[in-house]
Amino acid sequence: MKRAIILVEQRDGQIRKVTYEAIAAAKLLSTEIEITCLLISENESADQINSLIGHGADRIGIVSSSNSQVENCAAILEELFASVEPDWIILGHTGIGRDIAPRLAVQLQLGLVSDCIQIEKAENDQPVFTRPIYAGKAFEKVRILDEKGIITIRPNNFSPVEFANNQVVVEKYEISQALSSVKFLKGQINGGTVDLSEARVIISGGRGVKSESGFGVLYQLANTVGGAVGASRGACDAAYCDYSLQIGQTGKVVTPDLYIACGISGAIQHLAGMSNSKCIVAINKDPDAAIFQVADYGIVGDLFEVVPLLTTALSQS
Ligand code: FAD
Repeated sequence: MKRAIILVEQRDGQIRKVTYEAIAAAKLLSTEIEITCLLISENESADQINSLIGHGADRIGIVSSSNSQVENCAAILEELFASVEPDWIILGHTGIGRDIAPRLAVQLQLGLVSDCIQIEKAENDQPVFTRPIYAGKAFEKVRILDEKGIITIRPNNFSPVEFANNQVVVEKYEISQALSSVKFLKGQINGGTVDLSEARVIISGGRGVKSESGFGVLYQLANTVGGAVGASRGACDAAYCDYSLQIGQTGKVVTPDLYIACGISGAIQHLAGMSNSKCIVAINKDPDAAIFQVADYGIVGDLFEVVPLLTTALSQS
């Protein structure tokens, strides 16, 4: 029996979807695997516990701490590694996961495969990981020869599973390490209420949006469809929006079900962050814009006419 430990990511008391995706990914690692979800929280709720159980956790380990800073999470995982003895540590390829994973890999001397988008089983039940390389232009398949290690999974690539295990163990873990002296006080998500990296729909604006107020039409469409707003670097550089919205090679990498690119030319650095989206719609008034080459649907037109029409149509459906 293999063992995996997953860090439960939370935002405002809500468990992030990438945690459920990590559980689904863990189930692909071995036919027999025990999955422990590590919940770092001072006031864990029954809803959180039940939700983890409903998505396939076998054990839930609670560490009572109000500090979810990465230094703290990494220190806790490092200490638990000795007692839980997991074969795999699974993290989201999120800001938190990307920060913790290399720290742990060094401290625990484990192999690390980051940004996994697929896990297959090769011979002998050994997992083979697929990850994008060269800014999404190619994919590589890799194995960790030790048959244990750390993986980070790209959000929106593993479908969460509903799974009822009636024998879930919920236990408290005592941590002896001195916890980090940095305390998280408050967070703010730019670009609306939906987290960009986990959003199923992203409405993204480029330099064609022309101004900060121009982004208003994108927010209206995003709010109508429950999506998030993203941006090209062109739009960020022009100060139309915050850099936290930037998608691309030097921004966030996203894989939504639907990506609507508005007034974005389709530079290779932008495509690096969104070209694996499941469906791409491009709105651009230049019929020769490169974005149309990766788009599933293209609308040649003025975004200030097209986007409000989409908002009206979708709010009626
Ligand atoms: P533009 O290229 O200026 O395109 C604007 C588009 O809007 C045009 O196609 C135009 O036809 C269209 N348009 C104008 N008005 C309208 C309208 N009313 N209706 C519809 N369409 C309209 N870029 C990123 O996005 N992300 C990155 O992470 C990133 N990293 C980079 C890293 C490096 C090292 C370098 C060198 C560059 C990077 N870039 C990145 C920048 C990238 O090369 C492009 O400059 C940038 O993506 C262009 O942004 P844009 O498409 O919004 O602007």
